[in-house]
Amino acid sequence: MKVWKILWIAAAVFLLLPACRKDSPAAQPDEEEALPEADTTFVLSESWVDISEFRYIHPGFSVSADSGAPWGFAHLGLDLILAGDSAHVIAPSGGTVEFADIYQNEHNLQWQVNLRVRFDGEFIYHMLFEPRAHTREEAEFQRAAMPLTVGQRVKRGDFLGMIYDLSGGDMSSGGATVHFDIWKGDQNICPAPYMTSEAYEGMLFLIRSMYPDADLCYP
Ligand SMILES: [Zn+2]
Repeated sequence: MKVWKILWIAAAVFLLLPACRKDSPAAQPDEEEALPEADTTFVLSESWVDISEFRYIHPGFSVSADSGAPWGFAHLGLDLILAGDSAHVIAPSGGTVEFADIYQNEHNLQWQVNLRVRFDGEFIYHMLFEPRAHTREEAEFQRAAMPLTVGQRVKRGDFLGMIYDLSGGDMSSGGATVHFDIWKGDQNICPAPYMTSEAYEGMLFLIRSMYPDADLCYP
């Protein structure tokens, strides 16, 4: 009896093993094909390497002065204020660099670098590097800290550049800032619904470092 049992088990193992081997190589291509699909959904991850390089968010997203936002005016993006002299900025989403241009802000006459990345035909995001530069030369220094060319493809998490504090102590327009906003078609919208939970928690931490009970967006 024992001998028969052992023979049956051996036969069963012999028959099942090839079946298992057949399954595993077939499973792998499926997993690989699933990966690019994830990138067709617009998702925003953290734009910092180390969140402590930013002090707070001020202001957040508000469509009008009477939206209930504690900062009390309209602002269609999130302003991340530097904690120190510089900070690393990484891509919250992949896409194609459409511009990374030096620009003089007509409101305060300060110089900055405006970056636009297109995710697809529908979504884009801007990151405006506002180092509080007072000259074009300073803005060129800021631009040189961003290793980007127009038409370049960036992946989520790729290094977009350093942002520097070039204010020289002039806080008349606030501290050095990365202004972050997103557009869906021709609508400048709240980015919060597209954030990963890590990015959302981080952004909420930063805005509540300035306004303890605030939300990121006041639509
Ligand atoms: Zn802003």
